[in-house]
Amino acid sequence: MLSSLKDFVTLNNGVKMPKLGLGLFKVEDGAVTINAIKYAVDAGYRSLDTAAIYRNEKSVGVGLKECGQPREEIFVTSKLWNAEHGYDSTLKAFEVTLADLQLDYLDLYLIHWPLPKNDKYIATWKAMEKLYKEGRIKAIGLSNFEPEWIQRVLDECEVLPAVNQVECHPYLQQCEVFDYCKKSNIQMQAWSPLAQGKIFEDARLKKIAEKYGKTVAQFVIRWILQRGIITIPKSIDQNRIISNADIFDFEIDEQDMQEMKSFDENNRVGPNPYEFYVV
Ligand code: NDP
Repeated sequence: MLSSLKDFVTLNNGVKMPKLGLGLFKVEDGAVTINAIKYAVDAGYRSLDTAAIYRNEKSVGVGLKECGQPREEIFVTSKLWNAEHGYDSTLKAFEVTLADLQLDYLDLYLIHWPLPKNDKYIATWKAMEKLYKEGRIKAIGLSNFEPEWIQRVLDECEVLPAVNQVECHPYLQQCEVFDYCKKSNIQMQAWSPLAQGKIFEDARLKKIAEKYGKTVAQFVIRWILQRGIITIPKSIDQNRIISNADIFDFEIDEQDMQEMKSFDENNRVGPNPYEFYVV
């Protein structure tokens, strides 16, 4: 049952993570980031998703200080950037992220991209395990990992990843990754749940959403959560931040959940992790 923005999943290590959070990719450093966080926290959001490469961690830190909620009320996720893969560089990059955020622990730290041909994600994961065991991160996870790379982590490392954050929306439903994560007790999280705006041009989605008296964004966010996937839609606009979370007063019926499967085109709005090597 979904009832409020405080709804959480319990990750495989017992840590509670809100099902819906605010994404902060391409949110300009400074007042834009700080205000987005304040709008979100005022609206009841309790989870923020940033990354070193978003270059807004300092402002996220300010937003957290000014948002009016104690640190432990907000679940903070950040991600280790590609250039920092490797054991020692991961430890160093974590310190920079934590200092920029002005925090003394992170709730969740993810390897942003696997870079399989660079072959450093195992050493990277081992550094994340060290930080986790020291209590400096409450949970550690992966992002953009396909089953074959997750399996290597499971085979060669100690700590089971808590989360795998991947691109997921109506046009890329990630059924295989989802099934694999579910079977492995790893929580899947959807990035670009609104397909970076592409869903708003879709008359078919508009028609289904209207049936429930909801916007396309509300319908799609609810659909993702009803699948058992957690998510982090991004907005900097106060009305859209509020509206994107107004999803707890309706339920998508089984027929429409089935119908949504027909939207899957295996089409990405972001990079393919097999090909993404930007550092
Ligand atoms: P989203 O799918 O969340 O779409 C964001 C876009 O939709 C923005 O242009 C936003 O504009 C617009 N928007 C939001 N709500 C509405 C609405 N109700 N009506 C109309 N337009 C709306 O894209 P993101 O790529 O930002 O993904 C979400 C988050 O996922 C990121 O912010 C980031 O935290 C994470 N992410 C992680 C990645 C990874 O590799 N791990 C990669 C990419 C994203 P506006 O702000 O003006 O409202």
